[in-house]
Amino acid sequence: MNKVIIVTGASRGIGRNIAYNLAINGYTVIANYNNSEQEALKLKDELKEQGIEIDIFKANVSKRSEVEKLVDFVIKKYNKIDVLINNAGIAQSKLFLDITDEDFEQMLKNNLYSVFYTSQETIKYMIKEHKGSIINISSMYGKIGASCEVHYSVSKAGIDGMTKALAKELGPSNIRVNSIAPGAIDTDMNKNLTEEDWKKLIEETPLTRKGYPIDITRCVKWLIEDEFTTGQIISVDGGIVIS
Ligand code: NAP
Repeated sequence: MNKVIIVTGASRGIGRNIAYNLAINGYTVIANYNNSEQEALKLKDELKEQGIEIDIFKANVSKRSEVEKLVDFVIKKYNKIDVLINNAGIAQSKLFLDITDEDFEQMLKNNLYSVFYTSQETIKYMIKEHKGSIINISSMYGKIGASCEVHYSVSKAGIDGMTKALAKELGPSNIRVNSIAPGAIDTDMNKNLTEEDWKKLIEETPLTRKGYPIDITRCVKWLIEDEFTTGQIISVDGGIVIS
């Protein structure tokens, strides 16, 4: 059987592009979504028109019980999980002093606890197979921090910490764990950016353009087939972060 791959947050943006392209390339894809059922159904239908079947599965990955249901569904249907792509995430722009306890908790629940839950629920099956790969979508702001996005930056830095520590713990079980840290990508998440904001971001970017979901998908595809890279935070940002 082809590699079985879970993509979280696959109804829109980067996750949708990843799910679509992996399916086109012959992988067995389970596309998770939460609120955007119509978009998820549209993804499934678009692929079906090309003769490709994928599963779509509603689960709020910030809740352990829903992650359990997602993983149960995949194991019952396919009996294995080869790759977990932790893409689901939210963003919020607020001055630090305006961030409420609830904002902070929601950010960590959606962006970091979700990765903790999906990884724990999935790894037990990867260990049985003595192979697997986890690809976390973090952010350049986990590395360099973003003004007015402290809680977002904390959640992404947390993902990078988990990536490094887990890679060490799971390496002997032949499970690789890596993060991709995107720069500014043209998706709904950035729909509040003005032309002027984009212009400034592009000026800071050595490759002098905005990023698109396909830029992230290309790196995901490489990481899926790679066999000797683990514990890395890979910047896919047009060169904004060079360290
Ligand atoms: P987006 O267009 O806003 O899409 C977010 C996706 O995540 C949606 O499919 C949404 O699903 C899903 N999602 C959010 N919370 C969820 C939850 N609790 N359970 C299940 N699904 C959930 O965002 P994007 O730009 O594609 O971002 C994808 C990832 O890349 C995020 O982790 C983001 O932090 C990261 N990233 C993005 C950028 C950027 O510039 N866009 C840069 C760096 C990193 P529903 O709509 O179905 O709820």
